[in-house]
Amino acid sequence: MSSNQIESVLKENRTFAPPQKFIDNSVLSQADFDALNARAEEDHAGFWGDLARAEIDWQQDFEQALDDSNAPFFKWFVGGKLNVSHNCIDRHLADKADKLAFIWENDAGDEVRRITFQEFHDEVCRFANGLKALGVGKGDRVVIYMPMVPEAVYAMQACARIGAIHSVVFGGFSSEALRDRINDAEAKLLITADGNLRGGKEVPLKSMTDKALDAGCPSIEKSVVLLHGGLDVSMNPDRDISWADVVAGQATECEPEWVDPEHPLFILYTSGSTGKPKGVQHSSGGYLLGAIMTNKWVFDLHADDVYWCTADVGWITGHTYICYGPTAVGVTQIMFEGVPTYPDAGRFWRMVQDHNVTIFYTAPTAIRALMKAGDDIPKDYDLSSLRLLGTVGEPINPEAWMWYRETIGKNNCPIVDTWWQTETGSIMISPLPGQTTLKPGSCTRPLPGIAATIYDEEGNEVTQPNVGGYLVVTKPWPSMLRTVWGDDQRFRDTYFFKFGDRVYIAGDSAQRDDDHYFWILGRIDDVVNVSGHRLGTMEVESALVAHKAVAEAAVVGFPHEVKGEAIMAFVVLKTGYADEEGLDQELRKHVTEQLGALARPEEVRIAEGLPKTRSGKIMRRLLKSIAKGEDITQDTSTLENPAILDQLRG
Ligand code: ATP
Ligand code: MG
Repeated sequence: MSSNQIESVLKENRTFAPPQKFIDNSVLSQADFDALNARAEEDHAGFWGDLARAEIDWQQDFEQALDDSNAPFFKWFVGGKLNVSHNCIDRHLADKADKLAFIWENDAGDEVRRITFQEFHDEVCRFANGLKALGVGKGDRVVIYMPMVPEAVYAMQACARIGAIHSVVFGGFSSEALRDRINDAEAKLLITADGNLRGGKEVPLKSMTDKALDAGCPSIEKSVVLLHGGLDVSMNPDRDISWADVVAGQATECEPEWVDPEHPLFILYTSGSTGKPKGVQHSSGGYLLGAIMTNKWVFDLHADDVYWCTADVGWITGHTYICYGPTAVGVTQIMFEGVPTYPDAGRFWRMVQDHNVTIFYTAPTAIRALMKAGDDIPKDYDLSSLRLLGTVGEPINPEAWMWYRETIGKNNCPIVDTWWQTETGSIMISPLPGQTTLKPGSCTRPLPGIAATIYDEEGNEVTQPNVGGYLVVTKPWPSMLRTVWGDDQRFRDTYFFKFGDRVYIAGDSAQRDDDHYFWILGRIDDVVNVSGHRLGTMEVESALVAHKAVAEAAVVGFPHEVKGEAIMAFVVLKTGYADEEGLDQELRKHVTEQLGALARPEEVRIAEGLPKTRSGKIMRRLLKSIAKGEDITQDTSTLENPAILDQLRG
């Protein structure tokens, strides 16, 4: 074993085959997937070219599936012309005009809006015409800073329709974070709202916007304000215009702008878990294809499904699995303004029951929060409409996975643990719900056409089971990022720094087991080196979460005289458990029993929460500073709960 390999200590042996009913009704059979994989093996670019022709409406057919002559700047579907909004909306109107595209629920839960594909079309066209009237055109950047309301999706789709490039900034971000993103993109227009209620708390978007713009955003010419939350806001007559005025008198038809497949569809900043966020630039053609294929393959969509992805449109998950993928496939979906725990921890389950949700896709942070609240709450709701569950965002600890399966899925729903990133555009490694035998905590295998594998330090493929290394993708794929906005050098330095221009480095460490299933071990930078043994963070955290009192855990390394590095664990308890005398010792012992003495934390700190990004991911880099007793000097612009840092300093 080379000195830099990551060692595995976790043993997870449980397996779950898909229910027979699921297998029988799958949209694609095992034979279909075998054929897809065989075709991808035989001709990688041709495989994607075939799918692009079959799944996308082209205004002009492409000549070449892939141009890889200037790696790592790959071009897909060269010579074609398309419009993403046309593909998400117009092509459904012939036979699905009256089908519901969205069922939207507000934060308080006393308002439901039902929007058909025809209405969706008309609203997007009116707003797109309004944008044109404001002087916005192809290639202009538009920043969208909105609550989770249908108009946020209309705004994104309207940009796509006229070839403007959107950059959505999560509505919970501060005015500084908003200003930085506006200036980095040199946006011409800002779209926002007066504000809204989220979890019962007022989010004053317009006043945050004013602060950002007043502090200096020279590129902004106009700001469109949706009056949604009934907040008292001041409108600057030189700059601000209401959404209602923008769409007033506009036609419900808008000829799409036919663009090159490489035309940037959007810029989106990463979550900032590992450092300063990166402005990821996505394409039109390749991105759309990734969104369509993964929605079909991973979510097994049927015509009568009611699909719900709980992400905010401010994250990549909300782009690919709310705004673009499900609409392109033509499924009915739920959109939700609020948070999982308001007015209580039964909110998601009540909505599943009320709207007969069949497919439910959420994040481990939400699952752990709802698990923390206890098993009794979900029991009060009828969850029998559910047939498929999904998760994304962080590794899911096997015990949280089991809770999701048993308490929410009633042992009846496959769980798709989907590994992907802002940069990958769409899901890369995931079970196929009707085919794959599941293992709790594993994202299983790469999708057809995705050349994901594991490299060691020298760039050799790791073929032995249970040996960790760099998670890499060795062939370009259509929905991959094209660059970091305005910074090709950062693009190269971040993703292609080690194994040449054709090997994309994800930044995560992973290993495969005997069945070639992938297990994400954590971020490359988070590996802990205890007495010469390199351990990923995931396994130790999962062992802690397997203890009955623990809802959530994060581990980091800190310098230790004897061991080189030792482990510090930060732990959040489940509701009903208290930080009693001796619990920290018990947890240390528990980890030793589960994983061996090597993985035993030197110290366990029990706290009310963990530092997280606004998208709910644990920021281990901040915990590392705390464990070392250092001051925090890193980028904290995407940190959700700064006050927790003081508590964790102990
Ligand atoms: P930054 O790149 O700014 O540090 P980030 O990596 O958290 O932020 P995202 O693109 O939102 O930004 O997250 C992608 C990362 O999330 C992946 O690299 C991986 O670490 C983690 N992740 C996502 N889905 C899964 C999953 N199913 N299993 C394990 N990890 C996952
Ligand atoms: Mg990342």
